[in-house]
Amino acid sequence: MTTNRDLAATDGVFIEMRDLNKWFGVFHALKDVSLTVGKGEKIVICGPSGSGKSTLIRCINGLEPFQKGRVLVDGINLDDGKAVEAVRREVGMVFQSFNLFPHMTVLENCTLAPRRVRGIAQGEAEKTARQLLERVRILEQAEKYPAQLSGGQQQRVAIARALCMEPKVMLFDEPTSALDPEMVKEVLDTMISLARDGMTMICVTHEMGFARQVADRVVFMADGMVIEEAPPETFFQSPQHPRAKAFLGEIL
Ligand code: ADP
Ligand code: MG
Repeated sequence: MTTNRDLAATDGVFIEMRDLNKWFGVFHALKDVSLTVGKGEKIVICGPSGSGKSTLIRCINGLEPFQKGRVLVDGINLDDGKAVEAVRREVGMVFQSFNLFPHMTVLENCTLAPRRVRGIAQGEAEKTARQLLERVRILEQAEKYPAQLSGGQQQRVAIARALCMEPKVMLFDEPTSALDPEMVKEVLDTMISLARDGMTMICVTHEMGFARQVADRVVFMADGMVIEEAPPETFFQSPQHPRAKAFLGEIL
């Protein structure tokens, strides 16, 4: 029998999900999902719509409660209600729909949480925000409002905003699926650069070029279960499960 500490102390393990089960009322959305993510590892999660991908990654930062199993992030056990805040401080999340605050400038979007949640002084928060906006190549838009930006620009701001909290892991939930095709690349390039810098990442995406380029492992989900898990070259060349084959046949 392993204890929480044993799991956390396992070489370089950063996220540990063990027999995770989640119900929405009577609907069984996650069924005995187990997944381990090492420090610095990049995981791509794919699978048909409704398979539980969003629910799974929302469980990692306490956005969804779960009923059975456990989730440890950096050794912090999410079963413990008080742990949610501690975990959220380590986890950055980027959604399909950007979710920027519309009434705030880009810079204000990026400095709000560092000031409010981490108590960082305005000047310092702005300095960090400008550095990260530079990194996602959007510093020149710092004084604009989200509605004045393209979708790709908004999504890069959302990435910079998450990075301003100095997360140890970044979760992406279909970050490019709401974008016009010509804007997908700029967001993927930003994610690729983040991956190259060593960030631990879990990305729900159907961008298989991205998966081939950066993923250490591809996790395929269907019906609330992890059906297959393999390095990208193995998964794309010789998917094992009929559901995975069918899925790849549809999207490739
Ligand atoms: P995916 O991200 O793979 O498309 P989701 O995790 O969003 O799938 O959803 C998995 C299943 O759980 C779907 O059948 C969805 O309808 C259901 N579901 C998701 N969120 C809720 C909710 N808040 N209440 C009830 N059912 C939900
Ligand atoms: Mg989803």
